[in-house]
Amino acid sequence: SSPHHEWVFLNGEYVPSGNASVPITTQAFNYGTAVFEGIRGYVGKHNNELNIFRLNDHIERLLSSAKILSLNNLPTAEELEKSILSLLKRNGAMTDCYIRPIAYKQHLLPGTNFGVKLSGQSSGLSINSLAMGAYTKTQGINCTISSWQRVSDNSIPARAKITGSYVNSALAMEAAQKNGFDDAIMLNAKGHVAEATTSNVFIVKDGKLITPSINDHILEGITRKSIIALARSHFGLPVEERSILPSELLSAQECFLTGTGVEVTPVIQIDHQKLKTNQKNSLTIRLKELYSKVVRGELSEFKKWLTPLY
Ligand code: PMP
Repeated sequence: SSPHHEWVFLNGEYVPSGNASVPITTQAFNYGTAVFEGIRGYVGKHNNELNIFRLNDHIERLLSSAKILSLNNLPTAEELEKSILSLLKRNGAMTDCYIRPIAYKQHLLPGTNFGVKLSGQSSGLSINSLAMGAYTKTQGINCTISSWQRVSDNSIPARAKITGSYVNSALAMEAAQKNGFDDAIMLNAKGHVAEATTSNVFIVKDGKLITPSINDHILEGITRKSIIALARSHFGLPVEERSILPSELLSAQECFLTGTGVEVTPVIQIDHQKLKTNQKNSLTIRLKELYSKVVRGELSEFKKWLTPLY
């Protein structure tokens, strides 16, 4: 297996990845009752070190997602950080990588009749890591406005990164790709722009950045938060966090997606509408370039977002 994936962490132990399995009676396998994170590690530009991007923010979000599913008795934030770093070291991580912790509801206990509930089920924790470089068409993608509605806060809260919610993302992505698009932008129950299948949405209008607010049924992306901070502090750009109607999305000058996986990905077309996202010196391109410098430790003021592995 790849150098990043030889070992995984499973319920307190380091296990060879091929032997890391969970029973089919695991509640999370049956009902989608798990929460997870996707975290990136980047090789520094100048000094070959490996830095984890915003590790503490990801751990905090994992623990707050876990709270929503009553996943109790998980390791503390400090213990989680230690386990992630020791796993990467054990795997000899030296290149760009992706880290996937999952906290999940364990056994459907005998006598519980396959009960669908959250209390009384023990919590499990796994962490695995993979070598990973850029994985999207970073030059620009085509999106469709999905007919699949984003999960609502009163159905499955999008604020929590719950495995079961990704059925919603997968349905939207499948339909988008079958129709020839790269990704889907989903609307919430109010008809406002929520997010794409695995990323947050930004538009540029009259020199301003606009992104759906945290009340628009979205995951509060850590890349979103980083881009808002970078836009304000580094470029002095006004940023509005507010609801966006589909017509405003379609009439935007630029649009881009943000996420740990997609980083900053320009959206160059939405349904039949072409955007100016990739024009020379667009705000999207400037933010994308700035973000890639920040994750590689090229800006000293944002080194606070990096946890060095070694
Ligand atoms: N929304 C959804 C549905 C996601 O899966 C992700 C990826 N975690 C994001 C937004 C972006 O979040 P982040 O920037 O923290 O990766």
